[in-house]
This record gives sequence, C-alpha cells and structure tokens, in this order.
Amino acid sequence: MIEVKNVTKVFNQGLPNEMTALSGVSFMVNRGELIILKGPSGSGKSTLLSIIAALQKPTFGEVIVLKNRVSKLPDDFASLFRRENIGFIFQKFNLIPTLSVYENIITPLIPEGLSDKELESKANRVMEEFSISHKKDELVKNLSGGEQQRTAIARALVNDPDIILADEPTANLDEKLSIQFLEYLKKMKKKGKTIIIATHDPIFFNLPITDKEITIHNGKVV
Ligand code: ADP
Ligand code: MG
Repeated sequence: MIEVKNVTKVFNQGLPNEMTALSGVSFMVNRGELIILKGPSGSGKSTLLSIIAALQKPTFGEVIVLKNRVSKLPDDFASLFRRENIGFIFQKFNLIPTLSVYENIITPLIPEGLSDKELESKANRVMEEFSISHKKDELVKNLSGGEQQRTAIARALVNDPDIILADEPTANLDEKLSIQFLEYLKKMKKKGKTIIIATHDPIFFNLPITDKEITIHNGKVV
C-alpha cells in the first residue's frame, strides 16, 4: 500500500542553516495495517508524514502509494491524489473556527463538484459515525475539545480514503479524550483503513491492534 524508499529530506540545502531532517528512511506498509511512527520531538515524524501525503517532496528517494510515485507527481496531481486517497488528522486539528461543523467537514469534498444533496449525505454519514450530528450547524469555535476532535476525524474520513495519516493526534487532548481517540482508532482499523500515527505519546505504544512500530531518531529509522 505504501512504500517509503530511501527517503532523505534536506531543508535549506546549500545554505549555512542546512538541515537533514530525514536520512535514508525505508519501510513498507501493507493494506489495513496500523503503524505507529514514534520518536522524540524534532526526529522527523511530521516531515515524513507530509512526504507520504505528497505535501512535500523528498530531496532523495521516493514514496510509492497505491502504485503511484507520489514523490514525483506535479503539485496539482499530488493534491488530487491526496484528496482521493488520504485523510489527514492534524495535531491542532486545523479546523476553521468561524465555520460550522458541517462546513468544515465538507471542505475536502468541495473541489469534487458534488450536489448539495450528495455533500449532505456524505457528511451525515461521518457525523453520525462520530457522534457530532447534533452540532452540525454549530460554529467550531464554540465546540469542546472532544467535539473538535470528532469533527476533525469526520472531516478526514468524509471522502472515505483508504489511508489515514495522523500527526500527534492526542497532543492537545486530556487523558480521557486520548483514550477516546484509541476507540476511534479501533473503529477506523476495523473499517480496513491503512493508518499511520506519528506520535510520542506512550498511550500508543504496544497497542494490541498495532501491526508495526517504527522508531525514528535524528531522521533515521532505529
Ligand atoms: P517531529 O515531527 O518529529 O517533531 P519534524 O519533522 O517536524 O519533527 O522536524 C524534523 C526536523 O526538521 C527538525 O529539526 C525541524 O526543525 C526541521 N524542519 C522541519 N520543517 C522544516 C522546514 N520547513 N525548514 C527547515 N527545517 C525544518
Ligand atoms: Mg511533528
């Protein structure tokens, strides 16, 4: 499903502040697997996730996702590919506070030119699944942390992507909501999603549903 081949990422190449964030990283992920990508802050986790999602390009090496060489795709194809195949859950959720729950959830679908009816039926499905339907028209800025979490998950899943990438999804959550996130994780795995979680939160270590834990340190898989 995902093949990371010898990925190296150098920021500010050739400048005095040159920085090698990833160095020769390789691994494979099979369909339906849950991968925990762990390592301390600054080890390169976010950079790696964004390269897999084709948000950034590697300096050397390549990433193949669903037989597509995403690291070589031109930007407009990369965003199309991402929209169809990848759901991204960001650390701070990246929701738009001045829009409603519904408006946030349908944002990944907007470029597809669906009818209002189709948008609504897709959004309703995920809002029900993650128990946020009752807040459909509420502005995101008025939601509790848990409600924002469920909205972010619903948005990541609204286009039914095969792959879910989550970057420090519990970083801003208290213990109760972190445990709740694990429940949602089980649910996503059960649906057959292929999932990579970048985290340094020990709550994700040694979970029975995890297929592989990958540890990175200073940009290298250890
Ligand atoms: P993590 O997510 O594990 O905390 P990151 O992938 O965010 O690590 O960062 C890895 C390293 O790359 C850090 O030293 C960070 O400062 C550096 N880095 C990340 N993005 C950039 C960038 N756009 N420009 C320069 N350096 C960056
Ligand atoms: Mg990070």
